[in-house]
Amino acid sequence: MANKPKMAICWFGGCGGCDEAIVDLNEGILKVTDAFDIVLWPVAMDFKYHHIEAMKDNEIVLSIINGSVRNSEHEELAHLLRKKSQYVLAFGACACFGGTPGMANLRSKEDIFQWVYSESPTVVNPKNNIPQEKTKVNGNELTLPAFYPQVFPLNKIIDVDYYLPGCPPPPDLIYNVVSAAISGDLPPKGSTLAPMTALCDFCERNKTKPERLQITMFHRIHEVQADPEKCFLAQGIICLGPATRGGCGEACIKINIPCRGCFGPVEGVKDMGTKYLSALASIIEGKTEEERKCVSEEVIDPVGYFYRFTTASSLLKKKRETKKA
Ligand code: SF4
Ligand code: SF4
Repeated sequence: MANKPKMAICWFGGCGGCDEAIVDLNEGILKVTDAFDIVLWPVAMDFKYHHIEAMKDNEIVLSIINGSVRNSEHEELAHLLRKKSQYVLAFGACACFGGTPGMANLRSKEDIFQWVYSESPTVVNPKNNIPQEKTKVNGNELTLPAFYPQVFPLNKIIDVDYYLPGCPPPPDLIYNVVSAAISGDLPPKGSTLAPMTALCDFCERNKTKPERLQITMFHRIHEVQADPEKCFLAQGIICLGPATRGGCGEACIKINIPCRGCFGPVEGVKDMGTKYLSALASIIEGKTEEERKCVSEEVIDPVGYFYRFTTASSLLKKKRETKKA
């Protein structure tokens, strides 16, 4: 056991689905534990941060980090794991791009606290108590991590070696990463461990996409009985396949749900939402500008559609990025 290479798995600001995806490797997890000595995995085993602090620098071969960075504890742990690890993998959409938690960047910290601790219909808080970073109780000081005004993807906080997108990443790609780490056959630093091209290139429905797409009306998926064989866009249903990296196994498409973009942008694209918007604008059909405007106004919640997983790494509100409250 002592001679096995060490691996850490850690969860920051996310839903836990990425940890679940690792557990879902089923018997594959035994290959991981055969090859690696897991030294941190808070969701599954009882390790303490001071065990990691006591290690030599680079003693951990691979740290797999999921979730976004939302508070000072996430940031401290990110720096600690970076220091102690040869390789850091940003695992899942939240770590890679900020993920769905990144959509909170559209609100201020004050708005979020006010809603969560005071205005939300299920909350009873007549004194409007809001969590504090420091509280005195019976002469003792209790502390909580500082809640940052923004959500950050992992690479805004530490140097990241590899990225594995998805919400959560699919088992075959997880297994490829673990196998590469076991064999030492790793791609160049900075690689995203998924195909470079768009989901449409892998999608069975691509052959039903007309040469020239023309959208005269948008439908939300729950409003129509979507044809399970036909390209969603050809049915006027927003599908982010043209702007999203492939490799997910088309899991959503196969159950007749359009792509929402959890694999992030295709190689070389910085702002996924803008890329998709420009593609979409070119296929909206209308004789006059007014008609085209009417069609585009049918898109309810454009940020939710186009930036669902990438708000925190997009160009939106970049000027205001700060960790200070
Ligand atoms: S990427 Fe998806 S599954 Fe993973 S932590 Fe974020 S929200 Fe959960
Ligand atoms: S737009 Fe969606 S449904 Fe159409 S080919 Fe691309 S991924 Fe498939």
